Order: sequence, then C-alpha cells, then structure tokens
Amino acid sequence: MPETLIKVDLDESPFTNEKIHNRWHPDIPMACWVEPGDDFRVETYDWTGGQIKNDDDAADVRDVDLNQVHFLSGPIGVKGAEPGDLLVVDILDIGAFDNSLWGFNGFFSLNNGGGFLDQHFPSAQKSIWDFKGMFTQSRHVPGVKYAGLIHPGLIGCLPDHKMLEMWNTREKKLNDTDPNRVPSLAKLPETAAAHMGALKGDARDAAAATGARTVPPREHGGNCDIKDLSRGSKIYFPVYVDGAGLSMGDLHFSQGDGEITFCGAIEMAGWLHIKVSLLKGGMAKYGIKNPIFRPSPMAPKYDDYLIFEGISVDESGTQHYLDVTTAYRQACLNAIEYLKKFGYSGAQAYSILGTAPVQGHVSGVVDIPNACATLWLPTDIFEFDLMPGNDGPKKYLDGSIDMPIAHDL
Ligand code: ZN
Repeated sequence: MPETLIKVDLDESPFTNEKIHNRWHPDIPMACWVEPGDDFRVETYDWTGGQIKNDDDAADVRDVDLNQVHFLSGPIGVKGAEPGDLLVVDILDIGAFDNSLWGFNGFFSLNNGGGFLDQHFPSAQKSIWDFKGMFTQSRHVPGVKYAGLIHPGLIGCLPDHKMLEMWNTREKKLNDTDPNRVPSLAKLPETAAAHMGALKGDARDAAAATGARTVPPREHGGNCDIKDLSRGSKIYFPVYVDGAGLSMGDLHFSQGDGEITFCGAIEMAGWLHIKVSLLKGGMAKYGIKNPIFRPSPMAPKYDDYLIFEGISVDESGTQHYLDVTTAYRQACLNAIEYLKKFGYSGAQAYSILGTAPVQGHVSGVVDIPNACATLWLPTDIFEFDLMPGNDGPKKYLDGSIDMPIAHDL
C-alpha cells in the first residue's frame, strides 16, 4: 500500500486539520515533503468540508457558507522543485471512502452563489447520488445510471507573491466595475473562515488578508473542473515556489462539461493515489503558461449522443456577438426543455446536465454574429429511448419524485 501522507476524518472539522487549507498563498507551510518519483495517497474532504448532508432537505445548500470553500489537501512539497520547473503529476487512482459512498449535486440560491442557469433556477435544490462500484444513481433523479469519470475538480501549485498580487489586482479591478452585483463578479480575499493550514497568529492573519480565493481556475490550474482530468491522466503543472506546493481537492465522481450547476458535478470526499516527478526548466523549454495534460487511457464508453445546438441569441431574443457563454446556455436550455417532455422536472434535467458525462463543444466562433455551442447528451445513460419519433415522447416519469427545494428565508 502506498503511504497516506494527508489523512482526513470526516467526523472532524477541516479547520482542526493543519494539512488542509482553503486559500492560495505562498506563506502556507508545506504539509509534508516527498521526493521526485514518489507515489503516495492523499485524502480530501468534499469541497464544502461536510456542509452538505445525505438527506432530502436542500436547506444546507441554501445556507452553505461559501467563505469556507474549497477545502484543499496540501501543500505537498517536492524536494528539488524550483520556479520554472514543471511538476509532473500522474493520477494513478481516485476513490470514495468505504464509509461515504455517496455524493451531492445542487443549485445554489441566486442570492448565495448562483450558477450557470440561476435566472431559471433561483432557489436552492439538491440531489443525492449513491455509488455502487463504478456506477451512480440518484433517488431524486430516476431513469439515469452511468459510470463515473472520477477526477479532482481542483489541483495546482502555490503561486509566488508576485503572481498572487497579479491575481488579486486583476480580479478586484473586474469586481469594482459592479461591486454590488448578485452573484458577485469575483470572489476577493476574505479573512472570515480562511484556513491557512499550519499558519498561526499574526502570520495567519496577514496571509488570510491577501490569500486568493480558490473559486476560479488560474495560470496554475486550480479549480478548472475538467472532467477529463481523471484517474489515469498525466498533468504538467507550472512551478512558482521552491518545493512547488501541490494541493488538491473538490473530488467529483462525475461531471458534465461546464459543471453548470456550480454546486456542481457529483461532489464527494475521497482519496487520490498520485505520483510526482520533475521536468527541470520545463516551463521555458515547452512555452508553458497554463497546465497541460494527457487524459486517461480509460473513460466510460458512451459514444452515442443526442446533440443540442445553441446560438448566441439570449432568452429575451437579444443578439450577442460571438458570445460562447450565451450559446452554451441556449444549448443547455434546449436540452432541458426536451428532457421535460419525458416527465423530468426542469431541476432534474438541469441536474443531469451538471452530473452526467455530457460533452460541451465550442462548435463555431467565426460566423458573425452568432457563436454556436453544442451540448452532447449521451443516450445510453437513460433507461428509456430518448430519440424523437412519430409517436412523440413517452412519459417515463409521472412527476411524483423531484429534487428537494429550499426557498430563501
Ligand atoms: Zn466541485
């Protein structure tokens, strides 16, 4: 058995664990050190640190404290790593804990986090997904079953001070253009609920004041939420500080491209078995600014799709110029309308798009004024025939089962 270098106890608060942190800052001490070539295990909390429960009440999603997220395991120091190197990470395996074989998907309230379709689904809702080996099903979303494409939503190395300052400056500049927007344009440093690993006292407070939030993906990777960065993949991360400082978390049992529900994918606690090595001076040698990776040799085999098109004309009929986000939103809304004809609620359909291995493609970005995006819905995950026909859609569900909802107080 590989050694487990970072352990978590799901019955204990992540704030008591010094090998966990929830901000990016170069002063966070390494949780442990390894040699290039070592392989080892790392355990993680789910991204909210256990705030969401396996029950039939969405109040926990409505009331989630987003200042706490994401709880990451690390940083792991790699001996000999220096700025300009590439840290090579082989994800050898990922799994759920035997005593926690479930995950959650939810929609945040528009007033507390929001999501890609928050104007259409403004209230908190959730679905619980049970894991049976490599497959998952939900008591809240009947009629679908699929194999997990399990991956860390969030993984990357510590920034140096210069990079951290650049992140904070550019994100504040954006946020200042509409500081009262709900949901906000960016998540700026926030000392409340900041967990800076083993840092204590004044050093902790100083780092918390400027520690970057873990929400966006950035140059170092971070919260990229790429479903194909799954077990079996090999990733090359830019290194900015001595020792690299690799951290990871936000494990997903499965996710659709875009992680559109934001609370998001099928979120789980679990473990990773990884191997690290170094490519000295690799950033300059290969012209690397953001991470690159090679995907796993294994993936769930769903190769038949029903594909929904969307263009950059929004719900009100307004024309947008080559706007891929608008186009993908339309493709998603089109898929939801279609699934509703088989008896799904809109929420259940939205949850399927966020959790199942659906593909999102940027299909065209030059045919002015419309961008075209496509959403690829795998047909084999459904227990019924999804294809259109002359007899019309057969109602598979009678509406008696839906996802729990919690309206704002
Ligand atoms: Zn996640």
